Amino acid sequence: MPPSALIDEFRAIVGEGGVLTGDDVTGRYPGYFMQRVEADILVRPETTEQVSQIMALCNAAGQPVVIQGGMSGWVRATQTRQGEVILSLERMNRIESIDPANRTAIVQAGVILERFQDDLEPYGLSFPLDLGGRGSCQLGGNAATNAGGMRVIRYGMMREQVLGMEVVLADGRVLSSMNRMIKNNTGYDLKQLFIGSEGTLGVITRLVLRLRERPVSSNTALVCCDSFDRIAKLLRHMDGALGGLLSAFELVDNSFYRTNTGEGRHPAPLGSDKPYYAMIEALGSDHERDRDLFESVLADAAEKGLFDDAIVARSEKDRDAIWGIREDLEHIVHDFQPFYAFDVSLPVGDMEAYMGEVTRRLKSIWPEGGIAFLGHVGDGNLHIAIGAGTTEDREQVESCVYEPLRPFGGSVSAEHGIGLEKKPWLSITRNPLERGLMRDIKQMFDPKGILNPGKIFAEEAS
Ligand SMILES: Cc1cc2nc3c(=O)[nH]c(=O)nc-3n(C[C@H](O)[C@H](O)[C@H](O)COP(=O)(O)OP(=O)(O)OC[C@H]3O[C@@H](n4cnc5c(N)ncnc54)[C@H](O)[C@@H]3O)c2cc1C
Repeated sequence: MPPSALIDEFRAIVGEGGVLTGDDVTGRYPGYFMQRVEADILVRPETTEQVSQIMALCNAAGQPVVIQGGMSGWVRATQTRQGEVILSLERMNRIESIDPANRTAIVQAGVILERFQDDLEPYGLSFPLDLGGRGSCQLGGNAATNAGGMRVIRYGMMREQVLGMEVVLADGRVLSSMNRMIKNNTGYDLKQLFIGSEGTLGVITRLVLRLRERPVSSNTALVCCDSFDRIAKLLRHMDGALGGLLSAFELVDNSFYRTNTGEGRHPAPLGSDKPYYAMIEALGSDHERDRDLFESVLADAAEKGLFDDAIVARSEKDRDAIWGIREDLEHIVHDFQPFYAFDVSLPVGDMEAYMGEVTRRLKSIWPEGGIAFLGHVGDGNLHIAIGAGTTEDREQVESCVYEPLRPFGGSVSAEHGIGLEKKPWLSITRNPLERGLMRDIKQMFDPKGILNPGKIFAEEAS
């Protein structure tokens, strides 16, 4: 079907305002690490029924479709090519219901994470997934990438928050698995296939999400330490002694800390001479009791020599100041040019050796290159910021980061996904049989290969 005929069909489904074309599409924000939107047709459905009709139409026409959520992803999974159609979830942004007794909510996939978190406040409930992209990412995008973030150590990844799901398949059929129970062992859990599928298996249109009690107390500390081994011991100590309250344990290295606390940037609560800094957070239900517990557990850790210095937040302002150092990426992106960002995982016990090897490889090629490690160390997840070489050197920089994962059995993607960015390196983490079965699943759900073609797999599935 020629594009003009397709546009008319789309307008008949979603109305005039639901279809954008030409400069209105190519002039949109292309997303992280992407230069330009190449596709020039964008459809913005409002209902599952409309998504179903769009997909049936595209499938019949063999029309490639790229699903876009909040465009906060880091692996170019929403990149488009000429001739593709963008299906944006931006108008499917309704919180349909919140059930306080069952502690569940039903949402459309385009609801922004931060808005959802805010809207739960009056109910005394919370949605524990939290990440730096919260102001733009969508819950559907969080599911499609199996997002992680700051609180995985306590609550798990997005996979653990999704109870039910509605998905429009490539051919337009609507798979409704809107389960509202925590327990439901009735054969294969189909929704799990779509979680982390990066828009290659179906369009997630609605979700049933698990909610938690809203924490009342929050205690935060910043500690510094001159050995990674002690940081790993501190993590275990805090997790064990806080009796389930530990909700974040984030690491930044000296390079990251110094960059963000440099002149005119964030104030440095602790001196900047230590190799490692950890942000520790405990969420609980009783201000006084939790504060006393937090401080005594920290004091105990100090006595055991598990860190060198610490500062405990006494106010919301202190707390924001500590988290600001961890969450602000602006200065890193500014100072580290050309900027390369990585997201890997490996066992905590292997992290120090890994960081040493990556640094050694990088510095042997670019002695002046910048490198900083940060991450959700409680989950074995490291982010690496690199500013080295030129934009032409991407493959060599990537090799410095990914090759050393092999001996540790690490993963090239802890939480960001594969997209276009990491597909040449997928084989480090997934063996031939795993990759083959993944392709079989893709073939089963999307035999014509119209959904997000070219993403995840080195060869196009079609
Ligand atoms: C400052 C910052 C910090 C971040 N920190 C973290 C972090 O700590 N942890 C983490 O995991 N991520 C992090 N991210 C990355 C990003 O926010 C997540 O990957 C997020 O889940 C992407 O959601 P999105 O709606 O923006 O999806 P998009 O970027 O729009 O899309 C991502 C992928 O999901 C697919 N997709 C989107 N919506 C749907 C849908 N409804 N149905 C099917 N497929 C869909 C797309 O096709 C694409 O493949 C961060 C990003 C930023 C900007």
